[in-house]
Amino acid sequence: MARTISSKLPKVGTTIFTVMSQLANDTGAINLSQGFPSFDPPQGLTDRVAHHLLSGANQYAPMAGVPALRAAIAEKTERLQHRKIDIEHEITVCCGATEGLFSTVQALVRAGDEVIVFDPAYDSYEPAVTLAGGKTRHVSLVIENNGFDFAIDWELLADTVNSKTRLIILNFPHNPTGAILRRADLDRLAEIVRNTGCYLLSDEVYEHIIFDNEPHCSLLSHDELWERTLVVSSFGKTFHTTGWKIGYCIAPPYLSDEFRKVHQFNTFAISTPMQHAIADFLASDPDFYEQLPAFYQAKRDFFCGLLKDSRFRLQPARSTFFQILDYAEISAANDLELAKLWTQELGVASIPLTVFCEHPFTGTRLRFCFAKDDATLEAAAEKLTSL
Ligand code: PMP
Ligand code: GLN
Repeated sequence: MARTISSKLPKVGTTIFTVMSQLANDTGAINLSQGFPSFDPPQGLTDRVAHHLLSGANQYAPMAGVPALRAAIAEKTERLQHRKIDIEHEITVCCGATEGLFSTVQALVRAGDEVIVFDPAYDSYEPAVTLAGGKTRHVSLVIENNGFDFAIDWELLADTVNSKTRLIILNFPHNPTGAILRRADLDRLAEIVRNTGCYLLSDEVYEHIIFDNEPHCSLLSHDELWERTLVVSSFGKTFHTTGWKIGYCIAPPYLSDEFRKVHQFNTFAISTPMQHAIADFLASDPDFYEQLPAFYQAKRDFFCGLLKDSRFRLQPARSTFFQILDYAEISAANDLELAKLWTQELGVASIPLTVFCEHPFTGTRLRFCFAKDDATLEAAAEKLTSL
């Protein structure tokens, strides 16, 4: 008889990213599901890794992160978001954004607290809340602009916030929909949380992948919100290094203190040579991330252009390296079943959206990753256009 235990996460299975990448590998499909680039990091960065590996930077880093990296993050944050950050008390380097999100939730959420997420919500949020003894409240984004744009329903958010709300988790630029926040949205959020005791966790891993000359409106650019916010980001998307798992958390001292209490017993410290290398590269090559929007916008336009004669409906993504395609004219099937079927039979793997939702409101939409070389995108588009 199979052995089981009373699970702490009874509703959780294997993450959709692992399921779809595994299926793509098993079937030989083109993998546009899990979000990772098919190209290497810049050589200027990998050269610095080699340098530090060979120069003795191989023992524990400081718990809060290598000072040079914290200084480089602070410099970038001040230049781009106009906030001066104290590197001693306000930045902690962590193991990818995933650890930053998890450690934040464990640090703040107590048994019985409520945490608000916006659906479709990245899949690591709710399990972290459940493990902390909290309850996740799902607020669906609304679909506007004839089915193309996703946005926060501010009335619904205001109605959902209550005295038990401990944390609101935001993720803009938004995975999977590409939705972004503008300045007026931050003001609206500030009005809603003004007289409450709730904190904000802002997952900004796509901070440097935003298109059509839109600025990234980080929560830490807003004086009032900053007082109650932890911003979590990652170099995985920014430097084509999803396998390195180097992220960071920026928060005022009283929140960073609590964050570090968990971080020190979760991972303690993060890969030393990688931190030094990223610090060097941030200082020497800021143009790399400054040119990232143009780089990915060209990929987005290339992929969307290849699909212009297909039966998918689309609006080019506003941010991230994911393109949503609406398959309503091709099939009425459920998105999870169709994503699996098309991986097996068409040979292109994608990510369904309904798995990120408490109530499956996203309909006939699938997410495709365009962080791929042109030949891969061409091969995938040819198959998708044949439908
Ligand atoms: N949040 C979002 C919205 C993501 O898409 C991802 C995946 N990169 C993460 C968090 C996790 O980031 P990391 O790989 O740095 O842990
Ligand atoms: N963030 C990546 C995505 O959205 C996946 C990360 C993972 O596999 N856990 O595709």
